[in-house]
Amino acid sequence: MDNYQVLIVEDEDVTRFSLRNLFEAEGYQVFEAVDGETMSLMLMQHSINLVIMDINLPGKNGLSLGRELANNKNLGLIFLTGRDSDIDKILGLEIGADDYLTKPFNPRELTIRARNILSRIGQTPSEDDNKATIIKFNQWTLDSNSREMISPNKKVLAIPRGEYRALRLLIKNSGQIVTRQELIKEMTGRDLRSNDRTVDVTIRRLRKHFESSPETPELINTIHGEGYRFVGTVEKG
Ligand code: CA
Repeated sequence: MDNYQVLIVEDEDVTRFSLRNLFEAEGYQVFEAVDGETMSLMLMQHSINLVIMDINLPGKNGLSLGRELANNKNLGLIFLTGRDSDIDKILGLEIGADDYLTKPFNPRELTIRARNILSRIGQTPSEDDNKATIIKFNQWTLDSNSREMISPNKKVLAIPRGEYRALRLLIKNSGQIVTRQELIKEMTGRDLRSNDRTVDVTIRRLRKHFESSPETPELINTIHGEGYRFVGTVEKG
C-alpha cells in the first residue's frame, strides 16, 4: 500500500527540511512547496492527504491559501504560525484548518496531531484512479492503470496525474465545453480559485503530446472565456 502523502508548504529552508526529515522518519511520503503556486502544482501532481502550512509565505499568505483548501474534506490542514496572534486570525477567519501549532513546536506533538487528523479523515491513500480503464480515441490509447498515453505510432508517454485527470474529464464530456473550474476541481479534487494558468499549462502540455503525432494536430479546442472542448472521436466499448 502507498503511504500517506504530506505536503510541506514553507519558504524557510531550515524549517522545511526538518519537517521533511520528521515526516519521512514517520514513513510518510513527503513533498515540498515554497509558495502557493508550487502548492497548487504539487496538489495536482500527487495525491496529497495532509498539508502542513506556514502562515508567513511570499505572495499569497497561508491564511488565504488555507481558505482555498478548506472546502475539501478529504484533505487535512495543519497551520504553523510564528506568532500567537496568527492563531486568532485562523479562528477569526474561520478557516477550515484541522489544527495549528505555534513555532517552535514540539515535533512529536506535530506528528501525533498529523496522525489523528489522517485517521479522522479516514481516507486511504490513492483510493481513486484505481479502476482500470482503457480509453481509445483517434488512434491514441489512454490507460488509467499506468496513466500512460500510447500514440498512434506506439510511443508510450507516462503523463502526470493532473494531465491524466484533465484529459479523462475532457474525453468523458467529449464534444461539450468543460470549464476551467471543472478541470481544476477534477485535477486537484479541490475547488481552488484563481488557477486558470495551471489549467492552461496542463492543456498546453496535452496538446504538445497530440501535436507530436501527425494524425492528431488538434484534439482540444479553446472556448474563449469558457474553457476547453475535446473534439476527438472516442471509441465505444
Ligand atoms: Ca515563512
